[in-house]
Amino acid sequence: MSDTTLHVAGAAPYDVVIGHDLTGRLPAILGESVERVAVLYAGELAEQVQPLVDLLVEHYDVLALGLPDGERAKTAPVASDCWEALGEGGFTRSDAVVTFGGGASTDLGGFVAATWLRGVRVVHVPTTVLAMVDAAVGGKTGINTGAGKNLVGAFHEPAGVLCDLSLLATLPRDEFVAGLGEVIKCGFIADPVILDLVEANDAADLTADSDVTRELIERAIRVKIDVVVDDLRETGGVAGHPGREVLNYGHTLAHAIERNSGYAVRHGEAVAIGAVFVAELAARAGSLAPALVERHRTAFARVGLPTTYDDASFEDLRDAMKIDKKSRGNQLRFVVLDDIGRPRILAGPTEDDLRAAYAAIGGGS
Ligand code: NAD
Repeated sequence: MSDTTLHVAGAAPYDVVIGHDLTGRLPAILGESVERVAVLYAGELAEQVQPLVDLLVEHYDVLALGLPDGERAKTAPVASDCWEALGEGGFTRSDAVVTFGGGASTDLGGFVAATWLRGVRVVHVPTTVLAMVDAAVGGKTGINTGAGKNLVGAFHEPAGVLCDLSLLATLPRDEFVAGLGEVIKCGFIADPVILDLVEANDAADLTADSDVTRELIERAIRVKIDVVVDDLRETGGVAGHPGREVLNYGHTLAHAIERNSGYAVRHGEAVAIGAVFVAELAARAGSLAPALVERHRTAFARVGLPTTYDDASFEDLRDAMKIDKKSRGNQLRFVVLDDIGRPRILAGPTEDDLRAAYAAIGGGS
């Protein structure tokens, strides 16, 4: 099957390419002025990144930097080590960064590229479903601090994104399924065909190399592109649409669950639980039909994602939700649906509705 190219319009337009064996496209995206390329890769993926490094050394001076695994990459000391290495390597404004790994690597690498000399070219090569459909597209980069996730960051659009589906072959099944949480979220907020595909296929058929997986990934990337192009700097949407905030469907409770579980619950898993929670909330606020609440449960559960949580008291999760970045003052805000593809903001739901929605996903008081 040939590659698919999706264009991201905006002040700094770029393409997202989905297909197989895409590394050969890197020189054309990086451009002719680049002399040095820093490859910031997930340290666990040293074997997988080697062909990319081998190709780049034919064209550039290459500095390959292995990053600590997962979230441990997204820290100020790791960013600082990368800046020092770029300095020692003599990286100038016209040089470039290539990131290779899951969302933690693309976030850290994107942040280093955004801040080195106030911004150098970056190309993302995401290696997880989640990074392909979410982290690598849209220009958000960031690192964590002691106070929470993604609190320091910058908007920095990549020069290109290469989603090489062959790289998913080594991804552990739990990580693969967690990425589908964000894909199914895109189905609810914008593209019901995603839900139809999930419902029409067995979870066992959603393998790294299946055509349906490819279609799901492409559709989810299209949803993300459409949303970010309409709201590049997260300033808000038009005509009642929540803008980029819609991508946070299910995320307010998800972030609280991730923190509460000490990050034992994966992001995509927490999003599945959080989406069922806001569907219950929307039903109580009178806007979402009960059958669609049930459709949330069945769609996420069908691929093996959790839809209940009972490891925290309601009070603990409510307090954790209040410090979420998306909250305003003391008032909780949620993206909810009136129907599939019809999102809006629900600000300040009643304590009774919040409690009832939490009870409906199996939570205690
Ligand atoms: P991750 O980057 O931590 O990767 C998960 C695990 O999978 C890691 O252990 C990694 O080594 C391993 N892995 C990755 N690719 C592999 C492969 N092909 N084969 C084998 N193992 C592989 O996690 P993630 O879920 O990809 O990304 C989560 C991060 O993305 C979070 O930090 C989140 O904040 C960020 N994120 C950012 C945005 C954004 O807009 N910038 C959006 C969503 C999420």
